[in-house]
Amino acid sequence: MSQSPRSRIGVLGAGQLALMLAQAGQQLGVDVICAGSPGDCAAQVAPLAEVDLSSAAEVAAFAQRVDVVTLESENIDAAVLRGLNLSPNANAVAIAQDRLLEKRFFQQCGIGVAPFAPVDTLADLERAIESTGLPAILKTRRMGYDGKGQARIHRREDAAAAWTEVGGVPCILEGMVRFDAEVSLLAARSRSGEIVFYPLIQNVHRDGILRRSDAPFVHPGLQALAERYLHDLLVRLEYVGVLAVEFFVLGDTLLANEMAPRVHNSGHWTIEGAATSQFSNHLLAILGRDLGSTASRPTVMLNCIGAMPPVAETALYPSLARHDYGKQPRPGRKVGHLTFAASDTAAIAHWQQKLNVDE
Ligand code: AMP
Repeated sequence: MSQSPRSRIGVLGAGQLALMLAQAGQQLGVDVICAGSPGDCAAQVAPLAEVDLSSAAEVAAFAQRVDVVTLESENIDAAVLRGLNLSPNANAVAIAQDRLLEKRFFQQCGIGVAPFAPVDTLADLERAIESTGLPAILKTRRMGYDGKGQARIHRREDAAAAWTEVGGVPCILEGMVRFDAEVSLLAARSRSGEIVFYPLIQNVHRDGILRRSDAPFVHPGLQALAERYLHDLLVRLEYVGVLAVEFFVLGDTLLANEMAPRVHNSGHWTIEGAATSQFSNHLLAILGRDLGSTASRPTVMLNCIGAMPPVAETALYPSLARHDYGKQPRPGRKVGHLTFAASDTAAIAHWQQKLNVDE
């Protein structure tokens, strides 16, 4: 019997998301090749092509080597992405990489957002404070992640310092929302238009970095509302792959905070907690295959920030799944995560305290 050649997926970026995509690829019999720099952590499990992701020529040459290209970060210049066989498409990425375009797009889709105003100068910022009120958060339009490129403003007098802190680049000012909870919804859309949703996930952030995700977030009505929102976003964007949207919960309503055109940290629990992980479903979607079941069981994920706990300690907890991305320890850096069955409350409480997750 002649074997059809294995599909080759190229990932722009070679960090932990690329690493977990490559691990899913191994299970699906798909070759995942990552584009990045020597020493990037995905190189532990996948071939690494040295590519300057800011060079359109280098990225285009990389794309020639694979059947389809995807990405692990939205912070790649959209001009570099256009013309590639890219999933999700460059238009979706261009919207997701610019907070102003993203907010306006949410509004066009009838999805509520926090009060916001564009800010290009200090004078704009002073005017924007009038419209959003205080406290507020100044966020760079581009290249923000894990709370970077953000400055909080509590008093009018803080405006100039905040403007300096973000480097005086184009921003948006957002009024601070007093949310009841932060949640995210992940969905996958295939080439044929099939859409699957995971359960809503409740997320806890500290210093702008995700610390803990609990699935499912149970609330009458909000799962259906979030699914309706993502359905509209996916269809309008002609999206293929996994999309994550983070929301603030206010009573019975959702305000969209941001979207990620890729697999997402708040979905790492799906590796152990769902029939098909977000990584597998992303690969299946972009390969044009049928999507896998998102049936899941209650699961908790804790991020390891800065350094991994010793193996000798995590090994004492048989129900704990340890994911070490093999990255150099550094303060504030995501270096791994731990996953638990939600019923394992004693282990979760222990590790929550050890990992300093509490607010
Ligand atoms: P972001 O980079 O926009 O996801 O922001 C990181 C975290 O900062 C969010 O997950 C929230 O915890 C907090 N945050 C961001 N924007 C707002 C806002 N408008 N109101 C309240 N908290 C916010």
